[in-house]
Amino acid sequence: MHKVVIFSAPSGAGKSTIVRHLLRQVPELAFSISATSRPPRGREQDGKEYYFLSETAFQEQIDRGAFLEWEEVYPGCRYGTLRSEVERIWAEGKSVLFDIDVIGGLNLKKIFGDRALAVFIEPPSVETLHRRLIKRGTDSPEKICERIDKAKYEMSFADRFDTIVLNDRLEDALADAEEKVAKFLSV
Ligand code: 5GP
Repeated sequence: MHKVVIFSAPSGAGKSTIVRHLLRQVPELAFSISATSRPPRGREQDGKEYYFLSETAFQEQIDRGAFLEWEEVYPGCRYGTLRSEVERIWAEGKSVLFDIDVIGGLNLKKIFGDRALAVFIEPPSVETLHRRLIKRGTDSPEKICERIDKAKYEMSFADRFDTIVLNDRLEDALADAEEKVAKFLSV
């Protein structure tokens, strides 16, 4: 059976680290590259972390029905899951790994049902989240406030996911995530 694994979390909960770890450790998984209308950050490359589209190009993809889901995750920044990514990965005989925001994750779970394992990564606390975002240093203070407000809201959806991984000690979270994914893929 073709499967998908969905990882959602409030921003700064350590989701990207966990997702990167799984991609290295679990060869059956391949990353679904989303499209986004936000500009690349740092060393991000088109076609690697994201497909970076202009607003117009993003809208064209919406009109063509290219997205399984899309959302304006932050004001003025749209992100979407491309149907073609899922088809590409399944055609390779692999399972899809999604790194997606909480609402998008729940939407994908609705679409894929039992074929999906929806995992919520929980940060130990909002204060820890705040510290991590400051340490990451990629966002302005205003952006950080925006992300924290959103995180508080997103935490309220945790219990709608199939399972929760608490990211307090990173090593424990990595092991827990790996075990849960391996179990899901093995049945
Ligand atoms: P960032 O800009 O930090 O890379 O991502 C911001 C948020 O958008 C993250 O929570 C990320 O998981 C989410 N995101 C990435 N791709 C998608 C997507 O295709 N759909 C939705 N709904 N959210 C996405």
